[in-house]
Parts: sequence; C-alpha cells; structure tokens
Amino acid sequence: MELRSKTLAGKVTFRGVGIHTGEVSKLTLHPSEDKGIFFYRKGELLPALHPFVVNAVASTDLAKGNFLVKTVEHLTAALYLLGVDSVLIEVEYGSEVPILDGGAKTFVEEVLSVGLRETGRRQTLLRVKEKVRVQPNGNFIEVLPFEGELFEYEGEFPFVGRKRAVFDGKPTEALLGARTFCRLEDFPLLWANRLGLGGYPVNTLALDESLRYLVYSEEPAYHKLLDLIGDLALLGGRLVGRVYSFKGNHLLNHQLREVLLKGGYLEREEAGASRGREPLRPSASGTAS
Ligand code: ZN
Repeated sequence: MELRSKTLAGKVTFRGVGIHTGEVSKLTLHPSEDKGIFFYRKGELLPALHPFVVNAVASTDLAKGNFLVKTVEHLTAALYLLGVDSVLIEVEYGSEVPILDGGAKTFVEEVLSVGLRETGRRQTLLRVKEKVRVQPNGNFIEVLPFEGELFEYEGEFPFVGRKRAVFDGKPTEALLGARTFCRLEDFPLLWANRLGLGGYPVNTLALDESLRYLVYSEEPAYHKLLDLIGDLALLGGRLVGRVYSFKGNHLLNHQLREVLLKGGYLEREEAGASRGREPLRPSASGTAS
C-alpha cells in the first residue's frame, strides 16, 4: 500500500455552530507544504495528534496551553478520507469545529470544490504488526495485521437494533453523510450537562420509536465508524490493518491509540522509505485492557 501525500489546492472556510458549545466558530483550511494536520491561532500551532487530546468523552478535543479546539473528529475523518495529510487549519474565532451537516459530507464537498494537490511525498503508513485488543468492559476494539484498510463498526442502537458499517478504503455516501445521533428523550439530559447545545434536526439524527428522522437504517453505525476514522487519524499516519470496533466510542478509541502507540504495535513507514522501517517503540505482546 502506497499513498501520495496531499494538501488542498486552495483555501476553504467553514463557519458554523459547534454541536456541544452551541457557539459559532470560523475555520479556514490553508494548503501546506509541511506534512501534518495543524490547527493554528495567532502564532500558536496545535498538532492534530494523540498527545494533544485533552478530552475523549462525547467528543474528541485537542489543546496545547490555552489553545483548545473541541470536536475535531468529523473534520479529521474528512481529511483522512480525502487522503489529505498536510494542512494548516486557521481558527479565526471560536473553540469548536462547526458541526455543519453532522457528518463529513460538507467538509469533503467543500474541500473537493477547491481541489487537492500532491505534495510530492508519500503518506506516513502505520502498519499493524500484531493483533491487539482493547477491552475495558463489554465493548472492545480489535486490531489485526492486514495489507490494506478495513475498518468495521458494529453496535446496538436505540430503536434501530444491531447494525454494522464497513470502510474498505473507499469513502461512500453512507459514511460521509451519516449524522451525529441521539435519543430524542436524551436531549434535555445533554443540555443539562452543557452538551449538544448546537444540536438541531439538520445536524443531529434524533432517534425515537417512530424512526421518522432516520434516512437509512445503518446511519448510526456509519456515524460511529466515521468517529472511529476521525479518532484514528490522530495517530499521525495511515493505519494499515484491520480494525473491528464493537460498541466502541471516543474514549475507547483514545485508549486504543494509547495502546497502539505506546505498546509498539505499529511499524512506521515514512515517506520514500522502502527499507529501514522503524518500530515506534520496542515491541510488546499480549492483550491490552
Ligand atoms: Zn461524531
């Protein structure tokens, strides 16, 4: 597997309400020659990488000092699915990535409207060396060596039942358009906890017995798969392997990144290097929990 490193061919701006804060933010994505996804605000750079995750409950938030960017996962998923690994994201105001349509569709469409450009490098590949399973409770994520990208999510959803979604390297409409979701009856609880303040029918799928808002029955599973991809993007490379998440969430995705990076389960293949692959850490074996 070899992928060309890409950036944007021009700049693109997103302005909108954040799903949790309810505040309006404005972000501008700029083409970048430097590899990596960086948020930028008044001279400060915040890398979109695992060590900068400060919260993984209900959303994935990054911070460096006082520079906080909340709910990065749909944007990082969109960039991952587009193969963009070099971009500077200027935060003009606000502290949360706009929720827009609730998925990755608007991000992908707007970026494609300005086009993509190859940087002349290769993407960083992170090959899974051996099987690893993160299983804190009844839910788990299993990662296996596989020559390619195969990510699966399976879960049990309110009123919808058990559903499964698969990403095999090709983004689909179902994956890009899958909205954030919530049980209709849980909205007051979220609001009481100062969450979901920017949730509206256009960006959030409200689940109730009638299923009147559901566009397709696997939509919640595809959204969780999108979250998984956006969270794995914070590993800082393209994961080459098979990932199966059973009822995973942001917190479990966070634990998985921690185990993959610190347990030596990944072999990093840098740009242009066909030899001399280096493990991230000395190899560790066994099951992580
Ligand atoms: Zn999400």
